[in-house]
Amino acid sequence: MGMSSADIDSNEQAILDAIEVWVEKEVRPVVKKFDQADEYPHDIVEQMKELGLFGATIGQEYGGLGLSAWTYAQIVMKVSSVWMALSGIFNSHLIMASAIERSGTEEQKKKYLPLMASGEFRGSLALTEPNAGSDLQAIRTVATLKDGYYVVNGSKTWITNSLHGHGTLLLVKTDPESQPRHKGMSMLIAEKGDGFIVTNKLKKMGYRSIATCELSFDDYRVPVDRLLGGEPGRGFIQTAGGLELGRINVAARGAGIAEGALKLALRYAQERSTFGKLICNHQAVQLKLADMVTRVEAAKRLIEQAARKFDAGDRCDLEAAMAKLAGSEAGVFCASEAMRIFGGYSYSVEYDIERLYRDSMLMCIGEGSNEILRTIIAKQLVERHKI
Ligand SMILES: Cc1cc2nc3c(=O)[nH]c(=O)nc-3n(C[C@H](O)[C@H](O)[C@H](O)COP(=O)(O)OP(=O)(O)OC[C@H]3O[C@@H](n4cnc5c(N)ncnc54)[C@H](O)[C@@H]3O)c2cc1C
Repeated sequence: MGMSSADIDSNEQAILDAIEVWVEKEVRPVVKKFDQADEYPHDIVEQMKELGLFGATIGQEYGGLGLSAWTYAQIVMKVSSVWMALSGIFNSHLIMASAIERSGTEEQKKKYLPLMASGEFRGSLALTEPNAGSDLQAIRTVATLKDGYYVVNGSKTWITNSLHGHGTLLLVKTDPESQPRHKGMSMLIAEKGDGFIVTNKLKKMGYRSIATCELSFDDYRVPVDRLLGGEPGRGFIQTAGGLELGRINVAARGAGIAEGALKLALRYAQERSTFGKLICNHQAVQLKLADMVTRVEAAKRLIEQAARKFDAGDRCDLEAAMAKLAGSEAGVFCASEAMRIFGGYSYSVEYDIERLYRDSMLMCIGEGSNEILRTIIAKQLVERHKI
């Protein structure tokens, strides 16, 4: 018997409720310890496997939960309101999985998606290189076809989940001379093995505990049947195909940080007194709280709009870009306003707000910098309203 939409809604609500309980009971008490030690939370990852988080957006036919983008965004917000880095452990994994589900061959889907849904195979996304971040077509990692294998040489940097993960979706040049450049790019499903070297774990201001590393490929061999989709020259288009969901997800991380910072500030403002009254009664603090809650709610509405369009199968590039811009900027704004509300205590590592502040800026950089996103939003705006 098929499930009605009411069943699906109540099922998704039950999952959200379970995540909320788990975040409060298991995550909040340990976040400070792991973040300060910059240590990977192995036990929490085991709990995430049990909750099904590694298969959150993977189709049920492959063993995933098959959640809608909107439910997934709400999970990301909930987790990020306490510990954004934790959402990174399943986010880039799921970007790899959704690329395989969208563009992979039948064999690739059958082989990898069930292993990814259970968390047995945890993946990542390796696009960025020392000389190429926003301008991905400038990458230099080359894969040369030889005796049924792609032989890969080159290096990547800033690759999250690459230390504790089992493999990565690797963007390479299969035809470095191609013009236009993007037609020479391909994606490889790259399992760890000889020649796939994690060279350095980067020290970061925030987004700690989840390792972000430099990678080097030295005559690393990938069997030809791991070329995503089985056809070379489609890597750039395959990457772009994941941008909408990726941006909704980064937006949700930013909005989660914003909401988390608001909650902390709201509580503190009702506990701390100066000049004979609680600071929430000083107008200067009230102005901050008002601006914060407005930014949080505005970001959430934009995320919901983009996610619902995505779920309906509608074009949502403009909506996802606006959600990402609003969510990430809300995170930075609310974390920094909360810092001011906490006064001197904001600077103490005993309080959580300093972590949210350190983590917030990243959301403005990844998945299309906010500068580039603004240019995309403006171009699409003109395109949709041509006179
Ligand atoms: C903690 C962390 C984790 C990361 N994880 C991953 C990961 O898992 N996988 C991965 O592949 N990458 C990852 N990245 C890399 C990230 O995606 C890049 O840093 C990002 O794409 C920006 O690239 P860049 O750093 O080379 O900056 P650049 O592209 O050099 O940009 C520098 C500045 O120029 C501006 N700029 C560039 N081009 C334009 C333009 N056309 N118009 C207007 N402004 C422009 C940018 O907005 C920015 O202000 C991570 C980065 C960090 C910091």
